[in-house]
Amino acid sequence: MSKYIFVTGGVVSSLGKGITGASIGKLLQYSGLKVTMIKCDPYINVDAGTMNPYQHGEVFVTEDGAETDLDLGSYERFLETRMSHDNIITAGNVYKSVIERERKGEYLGATVQVIPHVTDEIKRRFKAFEKKADVVIIEIGGTVGDIESLPFLEAARQMKLEYGPQDVMYIHVTLVPYIPAADELKTKPTQHSVHKLREIGIDPNMIICRTDRPLEKSIKQKIALFCSVPATAVLEAADAKSIYDVPQALQRQGVNEQVHMLLGIRATSHNFEEWTDFMKRSSSARETVRIAIAGKYTSLKDAYKSVSEALLHAAMSANLKLAVDYVDVEDPELLSRLAEADGIILPGGFGNRGIEGKIRTAQYARESGKPFLGICLGMQCAVIEAARNLAGIKNAHSSEFMPRCKYPVIDLIADQKKVTGKGGTMRLGGYETAFTKGSALARIYGKPAVTERHRHRYEVNPEFVPALEKAGLKVTGYYKPRRLAETVEYKNHPWYIGVQYHPEFNSTPLNPSPLFKAFLAAGAKGKQPK
Ligand code: GLN
Repeated sequence: MSKYIFVTGGVVSSLGKGITGASIGKLLQYSGLKVTMIKCDPYINVDAGTMNPYQHGEVFVTEDGAETDLDLGSYERFLETRMSHDNIITAGNVYKSVIERERKGEYLGATVQVIPHVTDEIKRRFKAFEKKADVVIIEIGGTVGDIESLPFLEAARQMKLEYGPQDVMYIHVTLVPYIPAADELKTKPTQHSVHKLREIGIDPNMIICRTDRPLEKSIKQKIALFCSVPATAVLEAADAKSIYDVPQALQRQGVNEQVHMLLGIRATSHNFEEWTDFMKRSSSARETVRIAIAGKYTSLKDAYKSVSEALLHAAMSANLKLAVDYVDVEDPELLSRLAEADGIILPGGFGNRGIEGKIRTAQYARESGKPFLGICLGMQCAVIEAARNLAGIKNAHSSEFMPRCKYPVIDLIADQKKVTGKGGTMRLGGYETAFTKGSALARIYGKPAVTERHRHRYEVNPEFVPALEKAGLKVTGYYKPRRLAETVEYKNHPWYIGVQYHPEFNSTPLNPSPLFKAFLAAGAKGKQPK
């Protein structure tokens, strides 16, 4: 049976519970355990698919096509383990199942209530990995004290009652703020939030304090005393230069050993050197590569989380320093901002706003010869640009943004139009792309076909492919079963690639995406001595 570690948050949100949990997961993995993670999101949305990136950051897509919270991206990047529909639980989704079951008459005349019916459904989902993982780390979104997260915390409380303290533990991540006027770190918010947790019936076994400076022993002792945990179980999570430093920082404080002791786990290996070596190698970088991510959610960096992480992985593996400029495609200075970059990424997106700036970005990259990677909507913009400016189809557009467009070079495919009449359905999750022999993409990946993740509705319209290819933009990758264009490239450009899929979702620090590596190398060319 699995062991369960619950990670809760106190005082404020955005404390990095996901990174903390994933870092502990990494340490446990290195001691020979099979680890998976679950994110509980207390909102009523059934999934993150329709949420505005400004409110919730990027939508992370799993291999099996779930549209999830960006924390699942962190879990995959740290654990190198595929997440799935089973790794995300939202309040909306839980209530949906309960209500559907009630409508089918499955509760046999009972009054359906939060306890036990909703909490039972949550617990059922917590147990989805019983036979597959030694340790399941469950992050409960939100902050203790929120109304929304109560059913999740209640289910977490019941888990210990059900399985006992040798199988279930609780880690509380809180903030210990520094007050400049008093020149002091304050523990009171942590005390209050632990009291709040106790009111719910959860006794934390470990308290991880986010802080911007080292926690002195006396502070740790104070927290230990007031919150009733051993002083050794009060840990410091100081702001790290890189999120990938966090496992080491926690390791130094003996997290792994404490978790082992609390849950009665015996380590079968200690492979942590893989991580320390990788961090050591990547911290010696000197040369900087400057990459522009051109989009419309540029004021919230989390909106492009996986893209910027994939760039970072590529930079770390090539011993390069990465500087990312988030360039707003509606900025009147767009072109001069792009001119400062060594390479340009045009990421995915939805909605009409900013579309002409994106098309202009694709044109600028083509004309300037700067390395360009267009992802999903980014590739679609590259196609529209080529159609308009090279193939002479002046009013070419995507029917997503101009439904009655006469030249829909990007369009819904025929059977999608039938599905709903206008919206069609999304193509989500992993699909295989087969590359044309001799294409840059086949060379970059070093194989004839790859499976990457998708999240889009519109496609390159096959009717226009001959005209595009004649104009120089070659389709070099297809989803063969339906002959959908997956990738495009120019032969006469140093590095210009568009992909309908999202390569960023498959990138991890230890296994960076080949496409991002090649893109970054192209950006660094001429700057590197070799
Ligand atoms: N909006 C486009 C589509 O649905 C692109 C989606 C994306 O970039 N993820 O096809």
